[in-house]
Amino acid sequence: MLQIESRTFAKERGLFACVQCGKCTGGCPMAMKTKLNPRAIIYRVLIAGNGFNLEGRDELWDCTTCSTCYSRCPKQVNPMEAIVAMRSAIVEKGKIHPNVKTALESTFRNGNPLKLPREDRGLWAKDLQVKAFAETGAEYLFYVGCTPSYDPHGQKVARALVSLLQSAGVDFGILGNDENCCSSEVRRLGEVGLFEAMVEENAEMFKELNVQKMFTVSPHCFNVFKNDYHTIEAGATFGAQVQHYTQMLADLLKDGRLKFNGSFAKKVTYHDPCYLGKHNGIFDEPREVLTGIPGVELIEMDRSREKSLCCEGGGGRMWVEGTNPGTRLAQLRVKEALETGAEVLATACPFCLLTLDEAVKHLNAEEKIRVLDVAEIAAQAL
Ligand code: SF4
Ligand code: SF4
Repeated sequence: MLQIESRTFAKERGLFACVQCGKCTGGCPMAMKTKLNPRAIIYRVLIAGNGFNLEGRDELWDCTTCSTCYSRCPKQVNPMEAIVAMRSAIVEKGKIHPNVKTALESTFRNGNPLKLPREDRGLWAKDLQVKAFAETGAEYLFYVGCTPSYDPHGQKVARALVSLLQSAGVDFGILGNDENCCSSEVRRLGEVGLFEAMVEENAEMFKELNVQKMFTVSPHCFNVFKNDYHTIEAGATFGAQVQHYTQMLADLLKDGRLKFNGSFAKKVTYHDPCYLGKHNGIFDEPREVLTGIPGVELIEMDRSREKSLCCEGGGGRMWVEGTNPGTRLAQLRVKEALETGAEVLATACPFCLLTLDEAVKHLNAEEKIRVLDVAEIAAQAL
């Protein structure tokens, strides 16, 4: 029987504080289109007696881990973490969704969930003058991440970031083919054993290389290094200062080290990635970079900052087709961006970039709006 001991589960996660107000479900973007109902999940755990049955709870895989439920809860209950913990209990019993299984196996074998070879990881930088961190050391480790290392649009973002940081005189290096997945999505998919093993491997490598400061392209990598690594024993020694690249660029602009000689004269609207905004409160820095670029006219969507609509790319949902594949949230988001009259939909997350790109194609809106990362826009104005 696939069940959790509900009283202990509820106690350990503070679920008894829940007053069943329903604000979590009211804000949950996936509740609009699937059976996912965070309030009801908590209610059922609380009334379950000793055992809560997880059999057939397919809606648990619909959660994007966007954190809207947690940010709206007046009692600081975190339904998202309860859902991730339920996924862990399912995965522990070997009941893994087939797509998830492939992504997890590839992460274990290839160091990325994309089924792509380790030896191709550093190819994106082969013509660039970027230091090999392991050989020369540098002030910063540029942790690139899986999507920017392998995906063609992600690679453009990584290259744009290199040109921006080089023009600002930042001393940084990369790990190339030795870089390994950060394991953020492994954790959200509930594979605790693999997560711990990968944290141990990465933390050990960072320690050996004496990494003191690092920055990431992806808010998911940033979040897991900043908030999750030190919470488990294997990563307890990991103490590097971690920044998202938008924080670096905002600081470089303020210090006058990053200068734009060109311009980007377009109307731009900005989509807040969940793992940058709601998870980590980084709302201002990407906007400071955009508004610092000559020519950019920044227009806000109604749902921005804390109210931003999730693109549906987090929580492992890049690989899981949920219980209602219908209209992806990214398509709704692109429609919201189009309503502002923006010519460019900017974001600062590789997953958002891919889901929004896909949505623009699905809506045949390529002539009306382009999806670009903040780094790409900034690099065009150098
Ligand atoms: S918002 Fe918080 S208190 Fe209200 S139902 Fe959800 S978890 Fe319970
Ligand atoms: S994290 Fe987001 S998708 Fe998951 S239950 Fe909370 S609001 Fe819904």
